[in-house]
Amino acid sequence: MSKTVFALVDCNNFFVSCERIFRPDLEGKPVVVLSSNDGCAVARSNEAKALGIPMGAPAFKYRDLFKREKVIPFSANFELYGDISKRIIRILTELTPRTEIYSIDEAFLELSQLTNTDYAAVARTLRERIWNEVGVPVSVGIATSKTLAKLASEYAKSQPQLHGVADLTSNTQLRTTALAKTELEHVWGVGWRLAPKLRAEGISTAAELAQLSTRRARQLMGVRGDQLVRELRGETCFELQILGTKPKSISRTRTFGEDTNQFHILESALASFATQAAYRLRQSGQITRRAGLFATTNRHKPGFRTWSKEIVFSTPTSDTGTLITSLINTMSELFEPNQFYHRAGVWLHDFQPASYLQTDLFGQTDLSAFTKSQQRMQSLDNLNSRFGRSTVRYAAEDLARTWQPIRKLCSPHYTTDWDDLPTVRLGEM
Ligand SMILES: [Mg+2]
Repeated sequence: MSKTVFALVDCNNFFVSCERIFRPDLEGKPVVVLSSNDGCAVARSNEAKALGIPMGAPAFKYRDLFKREKVIPFSANFELYGDISKRIIRILTELTPRTEIYSIDEAFLELSQLTNTDYAAVARTLRERIWNEVGVPVSVGIATSKTLAKLASEYAKSQPQLHGVADLTSNTQLRTTALAKTELEHVWGVGWRLAPKLRAEGISTAAELAQLSTRRARQLMGVRGDQLVRELRGETCFELQILGTKPKSISRTRTFGEDTNQFHILESALASFATQAAYRLRQSGQITRRAGLFATTNRHKPGFRTWSKEIVFSTPTSDTGTLITSLINTMSELFEPNQFYHRAGVWLHDFQPASYLQTDLFGQTDLSAFTKSQQRMQSLDNLNSRFGRSTVRYAAEDLARTWQPIRKLCSPHYTTDWDDLPTVRLGEM
């Protein structure tokens, strides 16, 4: 039987690349994208990396360096990044439906399903297409396991002569070099917890980890360790998780733009989280039996406090109104007016398919109410998908806006808001 071949397509410096689509003048300049509340760097251009700005660099610590080196900072524009990501996913799934969306800027593809077996050529064409149609540079790693494919894409990024494609299936020399040059900590699934254990065994590269006996790997890291070593040797242990895999839990969390002791501000934040989570739940075709919320004060200030509570629904639901009402009622029980709230979140879990509603033993389930709610949500989603997100929304969401993260340096929503369409000037210079 022929082996499964995977490709990992990874967008280079994704958030920065998205900003550059509409600002070609930023090409070749150091650019960083800052997280929620403009706190720390979550994406860096190669030029910014070369200046020694690390991932997660706190903006306030690097303010002088930004100024001196003319680093251009942006607040994260997630509307833009999400939309660009969707466009890339569309191109990938056109090539093959055997695509696993791993994160906003990474996807695994199963190439062995294709008729063209020149995988490197397929990858080069794909790369060119994404560049021409979307304007984002990507790196592609090709191998017979997901772990190796991920390693290959990182290696392709670090070696300009590979032009963004590393195919480890056709070139054993390349595979040996890539494994030898990958630091242990950069192997997918090793992480900061396992690395010291492995370093103590004298292992410092991916090549050395691949040499570890599977028995010892299992002793050190459990079943996952045994699989990890076999994956590095090119054996497929982790299968593709195809698009449409249903989430088992959904959560929405935010640090507020400013701390608050106002209930209506918390109410508005929770309503907004519940709206987003309920929408995601309906998109996955599921209903939930449990919802929970938490709120905390600032952990860096004295008297740090946290509150949380879970609600169990006798009839599972995906109704935004039901979720908002029960979460806000729960918060009103927990609320202490002399506290300043810094962060809050909502989670949903314990799902079942919306298609079958198990009637509970005591006959508490009101089927007609459930059907009505499903219809109401369907119309809400239809309206919002046609006329734009939040066209129709629950009033609680509008109670306040001050909880929203501060994004002072945000670029326009070029692709998702008519008012932010880029202007093109034609004519003589
Ligand atoms: Mg990336």
